Amino acid sequence: DVADLSGVPDWLPDHLRADGIEALYPPQAEAVEAGVTEGENLVAAIPTASGKTLIAELAMLSSVARGGKALYIVPLRALASEKQSDFEEFEQYGLDVGVSTGNYESEGGWLADKDIVVATSEKVDSLVRNDAPWIEDLTCVVTDEVHLVDDGQRGPTLEVTLAKLRRLNPDLQTVALSATIGNAEALATWLDAELVDSDWRPIELQKGVHYGQALHLEDGSQQRLSVRNNEKPTAAIVRDTLTDEVDEDGTVVEEGGSTLVFVNSRRNAEAAAGRLASTVRPHLTGAERERLAEVAEEIRDVSDTETSDDLADAVADGAAFHHAGLSRGHRELVEDAFRDRLVKVVCATPTLAAGVNTPSRRVVVRDWRRYDGSAGGMAPLSVLEVHQMMGRAGRPGMDPYGEAVLIANSHDEVDELFERYVWADPEPVRSKLAAEPALRTHILATVASGFARSRSGLLEFLEQTLYASQTDESGRLERVVDDVLTYLQRNGFLEIEAGELDATSLGHTVSRLYLDPMSAAEIVDGLRDWERRGGRAATDGEAADGDEPTTPAESGFTTASDLAEEAQAAADADPDDISALGLYHLVSRTPDMYQLYLRSGEREDYEMELFEREAELLGPTPSEYEEGRFEDWLSALKTARLLEDWATEVDESTITDRYGVGPGDIRGKVETAQWLLGAAESLASEVGLDAARAVSEARIRVEHGVREELVDLAGVRGVGRKRARRLFEAGIDDRAALRDAEKSVVLAALRDRRKTAENVLENAGHRNPSMEGVEPAPDVSVDVE
Ligand code: ADP
Repeated sequence: DVADLSGVPDWLPDHLRADGIEALYPPQAEAVEAGVTEGENLVAAIPTASGKTLIAELAMLSSVARGGKALYIVPLRALASEKQSDFEEFEQYGLDVGVSTGNYESEGGWLADKDIVVATSEKVDSLVRNDAPWIEDLTCVVTDEVHLVDDGQRGPTLEVTLAKLRRLNPDLQTVALSATIGNAEALATWLDAELVDSDWRPIELQKGVHYGQALHLEDGSQQRLSVRNNEKPTAAIVRDTLTDEVDEDGTVVEEGGSTLVFVNSRRNAEAAAGRLASTVRPHLTGAERERLAEVAEEIRDVSDTETSDDLADAVADGAAFHHAGLSRGHRELVEDAFRDRLVKVVCATPTLAAGVNTPSRRVVVRDWRRYDGSAGGMAPLSVLEVHQMMGRAGRPGMDPYGEAVLIANSHDEVDELFERYVWADPEPVRSKLAAEPALRTHILATVASGFARSRSGLLEFLEQTLYASQTDESGRLERVVDDVLTYLQRNGFLEIEAGELDATSLGHTVSRLYLDPMSAAEIVDGLRDWERRGGRAATDGEAADGDEPTTPAESGFTTASDLAEEAQAAADADPDDISALGLYHLVSRTPDMYQLYLRSGEREDYEMELFEREAELLGPTPSEYEEGRFEDWLSALKTARLLEDWATEVDESTITDRYGVGPGDIRGKVETAQWLLGAAESLASEVGLDAARAVSEARIRVEHGVREELVDLAGVRGVGRKRARRLFEAGIDDRAALRDAEKSVVLAALRDRRKTAENVLENAGHRNPSMEGVEPAPDVSVDVE
């Protein structure tokens, strides 16, 4: 019973009861027995939706009650806000909760006063590199989804960061939450932790495979689930789930429920949601339709893009899609409507399985293969991933049990899917640390922040990682470490003398900026190349990139007459100017930018584009015979063109069409570019290059998505790219002009939105922003899109 908990704040039992939690679930009770409320280390490997969050809360709250400070590490930024709102419920009892997202390099000093901090592992790593003083005050760290140490991209960061935190405070309580995995033992050994390894679930889960007209379940039973002519199996399952179960007298014994469908790509998620809308629609009541129409309107208000339209159309019919290309506003609206049981089916990509904290009666894993670049084709999902998706099935207290099904396309596939997923145990988790890209950045940071001062000290530090605890092959890590040390020395990040390691000033800067050393080397080389060609920063009042040569054609790819015009303009332009496109390309080709792929048939377009604009790019174009590097160069050009479009005020919806991306992707690229250009500014001054001004302007333009003349206006909070353009068209050039402008003109330019106008004036520093009694000026045209 929750009243028997000791070591936790007095208010907690009542708080939990108010939330419907009377007694601990068995794995939670085991965790308490293992000492989670007394500062013991713990690894809890338990199924999805079995109450891991409460285990984390017990650890953190008891640690804080003893006068400590807790850190909760999330795997995805999108999950930080979800956890933040969970923990903010404790603020009524006087606890302070802070979330640390945003720029890697920002110092986070304000988090010093918080009792609980939520952050991604990358952010924590960055805070350690930048010596955030409160890191040493931590008494408890909780890692969510720790099985992701297996992820080649992000796993090593988590591993090294945990090792650093534990070295800074040897008494740090470490709690790691994991999905059920094959080797939870290994994680517990690595972290010197007690282990709770359990299959217990609050609601029974039946896994199965659908084929033909039947659902084959793991207990050997079969349910008839008929597929109509021309109906896809997924649609049949969604329809069956929606249909009330009625007994002979016609009374409803079980109300219809919702379905979560996992597919392998964003495009498939969107297409499936579109098709399933027609399956769901006939099952909606009039009242539901009305409420869904309202949600659809809210979705359209979030952004004016095709994705937004498609989502709104599907939601109006009770279906939705959910993937990382959606903006946060869209995701929240979808999740809320699904929880409120208005949206009856959500089609999601596996990457977001963790983010959709929304139980549903049935889960359909429609695609169990997905495209994998490194495998050169379709590759099966891991058992762990499939089980995590399946674990979302069943609503405690509402369903007798949850059902999760895979879909077979042939009789043989039924057996294969049972073997591969239904009866299979999840894979063991393996460290991915001993890879060069991971070690490049982590070795530099480890040396720069003083965790190791010699080669032997470095190896000793790395002994504390999961990798070291898992490998028998001791020589391998040492070999990779030596390769990486050589690379870092050769590029001027480290000095090595008689086994002593010392970060150079450049090395320190790179570590603090949170850059991959290879990105830093690429950026420095690119800027040096520009200087060698006689580059100089833009002179006063002149755009660094010149207006004409870099302005992309507004519609699609360059036409012949554009080409002639551009060639002329390029000839007229000062060849010494550094172009924004050149800078966008430079940062886009670093390993820190996730580049856009070239779609089939696009290669030629971008070869043309490269031919036209090669002079603007920094550094020598690789030869076409260097297949990989040349391809990268073109992908970087595509990415750079997206950034350039954004920074020349091309419509969001035009960009999403032109590059085949979602609005969330534009945001992601823009944020990464902003960060890398900011880093480039620091690097330029670090190595004594005179490019900071041009880089800074390119950064501000991409940040606000505006041409050069709007940079000042768009910097006023609440203005943004579209409003800045409208104000400019109305004759208001900059912040100062905004303060002095006729209110009636401002109001007209802002399309008679009074509240907005008052806000904007206030943010611009106007002394009396009130719009009372002001009428919009009639002669101001606001025709700008
Ligand atoms: P996980 O993080 O393991 O996926 P959660 O911690 O989100 O799962 O828990 C799933 C749901 O179970 C939440 O809605 C939570 O409030 C509820 N829950 C957790 N522990 C208990 C409990 N002991 N009794 C009743 N409900 C609980």
